[in-house]
Amino acid sequence: MSRGDNAVIADAVRGPQLRALEREVAPLNAWARLLLEQGGDPRCGGGSGAQALQRVQVVRTDTLRLLTTPEIDDFLRRVGDATAKLINMENYRRRRRFFEGRGIDCSWQSAWARRFAEYFEIYKLLGSRNFHEACRLIEEQWRSFVGLLRAAKEGKLEPWQKVRPPGYRKDRDGQRVPIVVVRFDNYRIDLERRVLRLGYWNIEVPFKGKLRWLTRPGAKQGRLIITYDPAKKRWYARVSVEVVLEGRLGGGLKAGVDLGRERLIALVTEPVNSSGEGVALLYRGGPLKSDYFYFEKKIAKIDKMLSDPKSEEMDRAVLKEVRRRLYEKRGKRRDQVFANAAAHLVRLCLGLGVAVLLLGYPRGIARDKPGKGNSNMWSYRRLEQRIAVAAENHGIPAFEIPEDGTSKKCARHGCEVVRKPRGLVRCPHGHVMHADLNAAMNILARGGGRVPQRVRVLSFIPTASRVVAVNVKSSNPA
Ligand SMILES: [Zn+2]
Repeated sequence: MSRGDNAVIADAVRGPQLRALEREVAPLNAWARLLLEQGGDPRCGGGSGAQALQRVQVVRTDTLRLLTTPEIDDFLRRVGDATAKLINMENYRRRRRFFEGRGIDCSWQSAWARRFAEYFEIYKLLGSRNFHEACRLIEEQWRSFVGLLRAAKEGKLEPWQKVRPPGYRKDRDGQRVPIVVVRFDNYRIDLERRVLRLGYWNIEVPFKGKLRWLTRPGAKQGRLIITYDPAKKRWYARVSVEVVLEGRLGGGLKAGVDLGRERLIALVTEPVNSSGEGVALLYRGGPLKSDYFYFEKKIAKIDKMLSDPKSEEMDRAVLKEVRRRLYEKRGKRRDQVFANAAAHLVRLCLGLGVAVLLLGYPRGIARDKPGKGNSNMWSYRRLEQRIAVAAENHGIPAFEIPEDGTSKKCARHGCEVVRKPRGLVRCPHGHVMHADLNAAMNILARGGGRVPQRVRVLSFIPTASRVVAVNVKSSNPA
Protein backbone atom coordinates (compact mmCIF):
# COMPACT_ATOMS: atom_id res chain seq x y z
CA MET A 1 0.00 0.00 0.00
CA SER A 2 2.67 2.49 0.95
CA ARG A 3 4.68 3.87 -1.91
CA GLY A 4 7.55 5.02 0.24
CA ASP A 5 7.84 1.56 1.68
CA ASN A 6 8.15 0.02 -1.76
CA ALA A 7 10.68 2.63 -2.75
CA VAL A 8 12.92 1.77 0.17
CA ILE A 9 12.85 -1.94 -0.62
CA ALA A 10 13.24 -1.41 -4.35
CA ASP A 11 16.26 0.83 -3.85
CA ALA A 12 17.97 -1.75 -1.73
CA VAL A 13 17.38 -4.49 -4.29
CA ARG A 14 18.24 -2.57 -7.43
CA GLY A 15 21.75 -1.94 -8.60
CA PRO A 16 23.24 1.51 -9.08
CA GLN A 17 23.10 1.12 -12.86
CA LEU A 18 19.38 0.69 -12.81
CA ARG A 19 19.02 3.70 -10.57
CA ALA A 20 20.95 5.82 -13.05
CA LEU A 21 18.60 4.66 -15.80
CA GLU A 22 15.63 5.47 -13.61
CA ARG A 23 16.75 9.06 -13.38
CA GLU A 24 16.25 9.18 -17.12
CA VAL A 25 13.17 7.02 -17.42
CA ALA A 26 11.25 6.38 -14.23
CA PRO A 27 8.80 3.46 -14.17
CA LEU A 28 5.26 4.56 -13.38
CA ASN A 29 3.63 1.14 -13.10
CA ALA A 30 4.33 -2.53 -12.43
CA TRP A 31 4.80 -3.41 -16.13
CA ALA A 32 7.39 -0.68 -16.50
CA ARG A 33 9.26 -1.94 -13.44
CA LEU A 34 9.16 -5.48 -14.81
CA LEU A 35 10.53 -4.31 -18.15
CA LEU A 36 13.43 -2.54 -16.42
CA GLU A 37 14.15 -5.53 -14.18
CA GLN A 38 14.35 -7.77 -17.24
CA GLY A 39 17.02 -5.47 -18.61
CA GLY A 40 14.86 -3.75 -21.17
CA ASP A 41 15.46 -0.08 -21.79
CA PRO A 42 12.27 1.55 -23.04
CA ARG A 43 14.45 3.85 -25.13
CA CYS A 44 15.55 0.98 -27.35
CA GLY A 45 12.48 -1.17 -27.74
CA GLY A 46 10.88 -3.62 -25.37
CA GLY A 47 13.78 -5.90 -24.48
CA SER A 48 14.15 -9.14 -26.39
CA GLY A 49 10.82 -8.72 -28.11
CA ALA A 50 9.70 -12.08 -26.76
CA GLN A 51 5.99 -11.98 -26.19
CA ALA A 52 5.57 -14.59 -23.51
CA LEU A 53 2.63 -14.11 -21.19
CA GLN A 54 3.87 -12.36 -18.06
CA ARG A 55 2.33 -11.57 -14.73
CA VAL A 56 2.61 -8.79 -12.21
CA GLN A 57 1.08 -8.50 -8.80
CA VAL A 58 -0.59 -5.23 -7.92
CA VAL A 59 -2.73 -3.92 -5.09
CA ARG A 60 -6.12 -2.44 -5.81
CA THR A 61 -8.89 -1.16 -3.56
CA ASP A 62 -12.58 -1.96 -3.50
CA THR A 63 -14.70 0.56 -1.64
CA LEU A 64 -17.96 -0.38 0.03
CA ARG A 65 -20.53 1.78 1.73
CA LEU A 66 -21.62 0.33 5.05
CA LEU A 67 -25.32 0.30 5.89
CA THR A 68 -25.16 0.84 9.61
CA THR A 69 -27.69 0.70 12.40
CA PRO A 70 -27.28 2.94 15.47
CA GLU A 71 -25.74 -0.06 17.26
CA ILE A 72 -23.22 -0.74 14.50
CA ASP A 73 -22.49 2.97 14.25
CA ASP A 74 -21.78 3.05 17.96
CA PHE A 75 -19.56 -0.01 17.74
CA LEU A 76 -17.51 1.38 14.81
CA ARG A 77 -17.09 4.66 16.65
CA ARG A 78 -15.81 2.92 19.78
CA VAL A 79 -13.32 0.64 18.00
CA GLY A 80 -12.36 3.37 15.52
CA ASP A 81 -11.66 5.85 18.30
CA ALA A 82 -9.51 3.34 20.22
CA THR A 83 -7.44 2.65 17.10
CA ALA A 84 -7.04 6.37 16.44
CA LYS A 85 -5.91 6.76 20.04
CA LEU A 86 -3.31 4.02 19.58
CA ILE A 87 -2.01 5.70 16.42
CA ASN A 88 -1.87 9.10 18.13
CA MET A 89 -0.09 7.79 21.22
CA GLU A 90 2.44 5.88 19.15
CA ASN A 91 3.06 8.78 16.82
CA TYR A 92 3.47 11.12 19.79
CA ARG A 93 6.10 8.80 21.26
CA ARG A 94 7.90 8.38 17.92
CA ARG A 95 7.76 12.06 17.03
CA ARG A 96 9.34 13.02 20.37
CA ARG A 97 12.04 10.45 19.77
CA PHE A 98 12.64 11.86 16.31
CA PHE A 99 12.65 15.54 17.31
CA GLU A 100 14.95 14.85 20.26
CA GLY A 101 17.43 13.40 17.80
CA ARG A 102 17.15 9.84 19.12
CA GLY A 103 16.52 8.38 15.67
CA ILE A 104 13.48 7.06 13.87
CA ASP A 105 11.48 4.17 15.20
CA CYS A 106 9.81 2.48 12.25
CA SER A 107 9.14 -0.99 13.54
CA TRP A 108 5.78 -2.51 14.38
CA GLN A 109 7.32 -4.49 17.25
CA SER A 110 7.89 -1.47 19.47
CA ALA A 111 4.15 -0.76 19.51
CA TRP A 112 3.29 -4.44 19.78
CA ALA A 113 5.59 -4.82 22.79
CA ARG A 114 3.41 -2.34 24.72
CA ARG A 115 0.20 -4.35 24.28
CA PHE A 116 0.17 -5.61 27.85
CA ALA A 117 1.22 -2.25 29.26
CA GLU A 118 -0.15 1.17 28.25
CA TYR A 119 -2.13 -0.21 25.29
CA PHE A 120 -3.78 -3.08 27.12
CA GLU A 121 -7.32 -1.65 27.01
CA ILE A 122 -6.97 -0.98 23.28
CA TYR A 123 -5.43 -4.41 22.71
CA LYS A 124 -8.39 -6.10 24.38
CA LEU A 125 -10.86 -4.08 22.33
CA LEU A 126 -9.16 -4.73 18.97
CA GLY A 127 -8.07 -8.32 19.46
CA SER A 128 -4.51 -9.46 18.80
CA ARG A 129 -4.84 -9.76 15.00
CA ASN A 130 -6.28 -6.31 14.46
CA PHE A 131 -4.02 -4.73 17.05
CA HIS A 132 -1.12 -6.27 15.15
CA GLU A 133 -2.45 -4.85 11.88
CA ALA A 134 -2.73 -1.38 13.42
CA CYS A 135 0.93 -1.66 14.50
CA ARG A 136 1.81 -2.55 10.90
CA LEU A 137 -0.07 0.50 9.65
CA ILE A 138 1.95 2.71 12.00
CA GLU A 139 5.14 1.03 10.81
CA GLU A 140 4.24 1.70 7.16
CA GLN A 141 3.64 5.40 7.82
CA TRP A 142 7.05 5.75 9.44
CA ARG A 143 8.79 3.75 6.72
CA SER A 144 7.25 5.94 4.11
CA PHE A 145 8.55 8.96 6.07
CA VAL A 146 12.04 7.41 6.00
CA GLY A 147 11.69 6.87 2.24
CA LEU A 148 10.75 10.52 1.73
CA LEU A 149 13.66 11.69 3.90
CA ARG A 150 16.00 9.66 1.75
CA ALA A 151 14.48 11.00 -1.45
CA ALA A 152 14.88 14.54 -0.12
CA LYS A 153 18.54 13.86 0.69
CA GLU A 154 19.08 12.61 -2.85
CA GLY A 155 17.32 15.66 -4.27
CA LYS A 156 14.57 13.53 -5.79
CA LEU A 157 11.58 15.30 -4.26
CA GLU A 158 9.23 17.55 -6.17
CA PRO A 159 8.94 21.17 -5.02
CA TRP A 160 5.45 20.62 -3.65
CA GLN A 161 6.38 17.56 -1.61
CA LYS A 162 6.73 18.24 2.09
CA VAL A 163 8.43 15.80 4.42
CA ARG A 164 6.83 15.58 7.82
CA PRO A 165 6.79 12.80 10.38
CA PRO A 166 3.40 11.05 10.65
CA GLY A 167 0.94 13.19 12.59
CA TYR A 168 -2.21 12.66 14.60
CA ARG A 169 -5.66 11.50 13.60
CA LYS A 170 -7.46 14.64 14.72
CA ASP A 171 -9.86 17.02 13.03
CA ARG A 172 -9.69 20.79 13.24
CA ASP A 173 -11.59 20.82 16.52
CA GLY A 174 -9.06 18.45 18.06
CA GLN A 175 -11.45 15.49 17.97
CA ARG A 176 -9.96 12.09 17.17
CA VAL A 177 -10.86 10.83 13.69
CA PRO A 178 -11.95 7.18 13.95
CA ILE A 179 -10.33 4.44 11.88
CA VAL A 180 -10.97 0.71 12.09
CA VAL A 181 -8.13 -1.54 10.92
CA VAL A 182 -8.86 -5.23 10.26
CA ARG A 183 -6.23 -7.82 9.36
CA PHE A 184 -6.72 -9.89 6.19
CA ASP A 185 -7.62 -13.00 8.17
CA ASN A 186 -10.13 -11.41 10.48
CA TYR A 187 -12.99 -10.57 8.16
CA ARG A 188 -15.09 -12.19 5.49
CA ILE A 189 -17.14 -10.64 2.71
CA ASP A 190 -20.30 -12.58 1.99
CA LEU A 191 -21.13 -11.65 -1.60
CA GLU A 192 -24.50 -13.36 -1.64
CA ARG A 193 -25.91 -11.88 1.52
CA ARG A 194 -23.91 -8.68 0.97
CA VAL A 195 -22.64 -8.51 4.50
CA LEU A 196 -19.22 -7.85 5.90
CA ARG A 197 -18.40 -10.16 8.79
CA LEU A 198 -15.88 -8.91 11.33
CA GLY A 199 -14.33 -11.93 13.04
CA TYR A 200 -13.02 -10.90 16.44
CA TRP A 201 -16.05 -8.77 17.23
CA ASN A 202 -18.48 -11.30 15.78
CA ILE A 203 -20.51 -8.64 14.06
CA GLU A 204 -22.15 -8.42 10.64
CA VAL A 205 -22.45 -5.21 8.66
CA PRO A 206 -24.55 -5.01 5.48
CA PHE A 207 -22.91 -3.10 2.63
CA LYS A 208 -23.57 -1.55 -0.74
CA GLY A 209 -21.20 -1.29 -3.68
CA LYS A 210 -19.39 -3.31 -6.31
CA LEU A 211 -16.38 -5.49 -5.64
CA ARG A 212 -14.53 -4.99 -8.87
CA TRP A 213 -11.22 -6.54 -7.81
CA LEU A 214 -11.97 -9.02 -5.07
CA THR A 215 -14.23 -11.00 -7.40
CA ARG A 216 -11.43 -11.60 -9.92
CA PRO A 217 -9.94 -15.10 -10.05
CA GLY A 218 -6.88 -15.45 -7.83
CA ALA A 219 -7.59 -12.22 -5.95
CA LYS A 220 -6.49 -12.14 -2.31
CA GLN A 221 -7.98 -9.88 0.30
CA GLY A 222 -5.60 -7.76 2.34
CA ARG A 223 -6.13 -5.15 5.00
CA LEU A 224 -9.60 -3.71 5.55
CA ILE A 225 -9.92 -0.10 6.64
CA ILE A 226 -13.16 1.48 7.82
CA THR A 227 -13.47 5.26 8.08
CA TYR A 228 -16.25 7.77 8.54
CA ASP A 229 -17.09 10.52 6.08
CA PRO A 230 -18.50 13.38 8.18
CA ALA A 231 -19.77 15.29 5.12
CA LYS A 232 -21.84 12.36 3.91
CA LYS A 233 -22.42 10.98 7.41
CA ARG A 234 -21.53 7.52 6.17
CA TRP A 235 -19.07 4.76 6.94
CA TYR A 236 -16.91 3.36 4.16
CA ALA A 237 -14.88 0.16 4.08
CA ARG A 238 -11.84 -0.04 1.83
CA VAL A 239 -10.70 -3.55 1.03
CA SER A 240 -7.19 -3.78 -0.33
CA VAL A 241 -6.90 -6.62 -2.81
CA GLU A 242 -3.84 -8.33 -4.25
CA VAL A 243 -4.51 -9.03 -7.89
CA VAL A 244 -2.41 -10.73 -10.54
CA LEU A 245 -2.50 -9.01 -13.92
CA GLU A 246 -1.43 -10.71 -17.12
CA GLY A 247 0.08 -9.18 -20.22
CA ARG A 248 2.63 -9.45 -22.99
CA LEU A 249 5.44 -6.95 -23.06
CA GLY A 250 7.11 -5.56 -26.13
CA GLY A 251 6.25 -5.78 -29.78
CA GLY A 252 4.08 -2.70 -30.17
CA LEU A 253 4.17 1.02 -30.77
CA LYS A 254 5.38 3.70 -28.43
CA ALA A 255 3.41 6.82 -27.68
CA GLY A 256 4.60 10.11 -26.21
CA VAL A 257 2.26 11.98 -23.85
CA ASP A 258 2.28 15.61 -22.79
CA LEU A 259 0.03 16.62 -19.90
CA GLY A 260 -1.76 19.77 -18.96
CA ARG A 261 -0.56 22.53 -21.22
CA GLU A 262 -3.15 23.97 -23.59
CA ARG A 263 -4.81 20.58 -23.65
CA LEU A 264 -5.33 18.27 -20.71
CA ILE A 265 -3.61 15.41 -22.57
CA ALA A 266 -1.81 15.28 -25.91
CA LEU A 267 -0.63 11.89 -27.17
CA VAL A 268 1.28 11.03 -30.34
CA THR A 269 2.02 7.49 -31.51
CA GLU A 270 4.84 6.18 -33.64
CA PRO A 271 3.86 5.68 -37.30
CA VAL A 272 0.91 3.29 -37.51
CA ASN A 273 1.34 2.53 -41.22
CA SER A 274 4.02 2.37 -43.89
CA SER A 275 3.40 5.94 -45.04
CA GLY A 276 4.78 7.20 -41.74
CA GLU A 277 1.49 8.49 -40.39
CA GLY A 278 0.94 8.51 -36.65
CA VAL A 279 -2.17 9.11 -34.58
CA ALA A 280 -2.58 12.01 -32.17
CA LEU A 281 -5.13 12.07 -29.37
CA LEU A 282 -6.09 15.41 -27.87
CA TYR A 283 -8.14 15.73 -24.69
CA ARG A 284 -9.37 19.22 -24.03
CA GLY A 285 -9.49 20.66 -20.55
CA GLY A 286 -12.48 22.96 -21.18
CA PRO A 287 -15.10 21.43 -18.88
CA LEU A 288 -12.49 21.04 -16.17
CA LYS A 289 -11.59 24.71 -16.39
CA SER A 290 -15.19 25.92 -16.38
CA ASP A 291 -15.91 23.60 -13.45
CA TYR A 292 -12.93 25.07 -11.66
CA PHE A 293 -14.07 28.64 -12.18
CA TYR A 294 -17.65 27.78 -11.23
CA PHE A 295 -16.48 26.47 -7.87
CA GLU A 296 -13.93 29.23 -7.51
CA LYS A 297 -16.68 31.86 -7.79
CA LYS A 298 -18.82 30.15 -5.17
CA ILE A 299 -15.87 29.79 -2.83
CA ALA A 300 -14.94 33.45 -3.29
CA LYS A 301 -18.48 34.45 -2.32
CA ILE A 302 -18.23 32.47 0.91
CA ASP A 303 -14.81 33.91 1.66
CA LYS A 304 -16.29 37.37 1.31
CA MET A 305 -19.08 36.56 3.78
CA LEU A 306 -16.53 35.05 6.16
CA SER A 307 -14.42 38.18 6.09
CA ASP A 308 -17.41 40.24 7.25
CA PRO A 309 -16.65 40.98 10.94
CA LYS A 310 -20.37 41.22 11.75
CA SER A 311 -21.16 37.62 10.84
CA GLU A 312 -22.17 35.37 13.71
CA GLU A 313 -19.99 32.58 14.97
CA MET A 314 -22.69 30.04 14.14
CA ASP A 315 -22.98 31.27 10.57
CA ARG A 316 -19.24 31.14 10.19
CA ALA A 317 -19.15 27.48 11.16
CA VAL A 318 -21.85 26.70 8.60
CA LEU A 319 -20.10 28.73 5.91
CA LYS A 320 -16.82 26.98 6.57
CA GLU A 321 -18.54 23.64 6.24
CA VAL A 322 -20.11 24.70 2.94
CA ARG A 323 -16.73 25.86 1.70
CA ARG A 324 -15.09 22.58 2.67
CA ARG A 325 -17.77 20.69 0.75
CA LEU A 326 -17.26 22.84 -2.32
CA TYR A 327 -13.54 22.08 -2.32
CA GLU A 328 -14.29 18.41 -1.89
CA LYS A 329 -16.83 18.38 -4.68
CA ARG A 330 -14.46 20.18 -7.01
CA GLY A 331 -11.73 17.63 -6.30
CA LYS A 332 -14.11 14.73 -6.86
CA ARG A 333 -15.32 16.07 -10.19
CA ARG A 334 -11.76 16.63 -11.29
CA ASP A 335 -10.87 13.05 -10.37
CA GLN A 336 -13.85 11.79 -12.36
CA VAL A 337 -12.73 13.74 -15.42
CA PHE A 338 -9.21 12.34 -14.99
CA ALA A 339 -10.47 8.78 -14.57
CA ASN A 340 -12.73 9.00 -17.63
CA ALA A 341 -10.01 10.53 -19.79
CA ALA A 342 -7.40 7.97 -18.65
CA ALA A 343 -9.68 4.97 -19.26
CA HIS A 344 -10.68 6.31 -22.68
CA LEU A 345 -7.09 7.02 -23.68
CA VAL A 346 -5.89 3.55 -22.71
CA ARG A 347 -8.76 1.91 -24.59
CA LEU A 348 -7.80 3.79 -27.75
CA CYS A 349 -4.13 2.92 -27.19
CA LEU A 350 -5.00 -0.79 -27.08
CA GLY A 351 -6.88 -0.43 -30.36
CA LEU A 352 -3.93 1.37 -31.96
CA GLY A 353 -1.41 -1.24 -30.82
CA VAL A 354 0.43 1.04 -28.39
CA ALA A 355 2.63 -1.07 -26.11
CA VAL A 356 4.63 1.58 -24.23
CA LEU A 357 3.50 4.94 -22.86
CA LEU A 358 6.07 7.69 -22.28
CA LEU A 359 4.80 10.53 -20.12
CA GLY A 360 6.67 13.80 -20.00
CA TYR A 361 7.34 15.23 -16.60
CA PRO A 362 9.13 18.43 -15.63
CA ARG A 363 11.27 17.27 -12.73
CA GLY A 364 12.58 19.73 -10.24
CA ILE A 365 10.73 22.76 -11.58
CA ALA A 366 7.32 24.01 -10.55
CA ARG A 367 5.40 23.71 -13.77
CA ASP A 368 2.41 25.91 -13.03
CA LYS A 369 1.49 28.31 -10.32
CA PRO A 370 -0.66 26.37 -7.88
CA GLY A 371 -4.33 27.22 -7.91
CA LYS A 372 -4.29 28.60 -11.42
CA GLY A 373 -6.55 26.98 -14.00
CA ASN A 374 -6.88 23.22 -13.91
CA SER A 375 -3.25 22.49 -13.64
CA ASN A 376 -1.37 22.82 -10.42
CA MET A 377 1.40 20.34 -9.75
CA TRP A 378 -0.70 18.20 -7.53
CA SER A 379 -3.54 17.57 -9.96
CA TYR A 380 -0.97 17.05 -12.69
CA ARG A 381 0.60 14.22 -10.70
CA ARG A 382 -2.84 12.72 -10.11
CA LEU A 383 -3.60 12.68 -13.82
CA GLU A 384 -0.26 11.04 -14.49
CA GLN A 385 -1.01 8.36 -11.91
CA ARG A 386 -4.50 7.80 -13.27
CA ILE A 387 -3.08 7.11 -16.72
CA ALA A 388 -0.33 4.87 -15.33
CA VAL A 389 -2.83 2.75 -13.38
CA ALA A 390 -5.28 2.49 -16.31
CA ALA A 391 -2.35 1.40 -18.49
CA GLU A 392 -1.24 -1.09 -15.83
CA ASN A 393 -4.68 -2.69 -15.78
CA HIS A 394 -4.33 -3.34 -19.51
CA GLY A 395 -0.74 -4.57 -19.61
CA ILE A 396 0.86 -1.38 -20.91
CA PRO A 397 4.09 -0.18 -19.24
CA ALA A 398 4.19 3.55 -18.53
CA PHE A 399 7.39 5.53 -18.02
CA GLU A 400 8.10 9.07 -16.99
CA ILE A 401 10.52 10.99 -19.20
CA PRO A 402 12.08 14.29 -18.13
CA GLU A 403 10.65 16.80 -20.52
CA ASP A 404 12.57 19.99 -19.80
CA GLY A 405 12.97 21.96 -22.99
CA THR A 406 10.67 19.77 -25.06
CA SER A 407 8.27 22.63 -25.69
CA LYS A 408 10.99 24.88 -27.08
CA LYS A 409 12.34 22.81 -29.94
CA CYS A 410 10.89 21.33 -33.08
CA ALA A 411 10.37 17.58 -32.74
CA ARG A 412 11.26 17.08 -36.40
CA HIS A 413 14.26 19.38 -36.90
CA GLY A 414 15.59 19.92 -33.40
CA CYS A 415 15.78 23.66 -33.87
CA GLU A 416 14.15 26.27 -31.66
CA VAL A 417 10.49 27.07 -32.31
CA VAL A 418 8.62 30.36 -31.92
CA ARG A 419 5.47 30.47 -29.79
CA LYS A 420 2.38 31.69 -31.63
CA PRO A 421 -1.14 32.48 -30.36
CA ARG A 422 -3.76 29.75 -29.89
CA GLY A 423 -1.26 27.20 -28.62
CA LEU A 424 0.70 26.92 -31.84
CA VAL A 425 4.45 26.96 -32.46
CA ARG A 426 6.27 27.88 -35.66
CA CYS A 427 9.45 26.15 -36.80
CA PRO A 428 12.02 28.20 -38.76
CA HIS A 429 11.79 25.47 -41.41
CA GLY A 430 8.40 26.90 -42.24
CA HIS A 431 5.79 24.69 -40.58
CA VAL A 432 3.33 25.33 -37.76
CA MET A 433 2.29 22.79 -35.13
CA HIS A 434 0.16 22.42 -32.03
CA ALA A 435 2.52 23.17 -29.14
CA ASP A 436 1.17 20.15 -27.25
CA LEU A 437 1.60 17.75 -30.14
CA ASN A 438 5.12 19.03 -30.70
CA ALA A 439 5.88 18.47 -27.00
CA ALA A 440 4.38 14.96 -27.12
CA MET A 441 6.51 14.16 -30.20
CA ASN A 442 9.63 15.41 -28.43
CA ILE A 443 8.85 13.16 -25.48
CA LEU A 444 8.31 10.27 -27.89
CA ALA A 445 11.70 10.94 -29.50
CA ARG A 446 13.39 11.26 -26.11
CA GLY A 447 11.98 7.85 -25.18
CA GLY A 448 13.54 6.32 -28.30
CA GLY A 449 10.37 6.38 -30.39
CA ARG A 450 10.15 7.19 -34.10
CA VAL A 451 8.50 10.55 -34.73
CA PRO A 452 5.75 10.28 -37.36
CA GLN A 453 5.90 12.40 -40.53
CA ARG A 454 2.22 13.27 -40.29
CA VAL A 455 -0.45 12.70 -37.68
CA ARG A 456 -4.15 11.99 -37.81
CA VAL A 457 -5.70 14.00 -34.96
CA LEU A 458 -8.58 12.71 -32.86
CA SER A 459 -10.00 15.25 -30.46
CA PHE A 460 -12.05 14.64 -27.32
CA ILE A 461 -13.66 16.47 -24.44
CA PRO A 462 -13.64 14.50 -21.19
CA THR A 463 -16.35 15.42 -18.67
CA ALA A 464 -17.21 14.05 -15.25
CA SER A 465 -19.76 11.68 -16.81
CA ARG A 466 -18.27 10.67 -20.18
CA VAL A 467 -15.83 11.45 -22.97
CA VAL A 468 -17.20 13.23 -26.05
CA ALA A 469 -15.54 12.93 -29.46
CA VAL A 470 -15.21 16.36 -31.05
CA ASN A 471 -14.25 15.83 -34.68
CA VAL A 472 -11.95 13.70 -36.78
CA LYS A 473 -9.51 15.72 -38.80
CA SER A 474 -8.20 13.80 -41.76
CA SER A 475 -4.59 14.82 -41.54
CA ASN A 476 -2.42 17.43 -39.94
CA PRO A 477 0.84 17.98 -41.79
CA ALA A 478 2.85 18.72 -38.69
ZN1 LIG B 1 10.65 21.87 -37.71
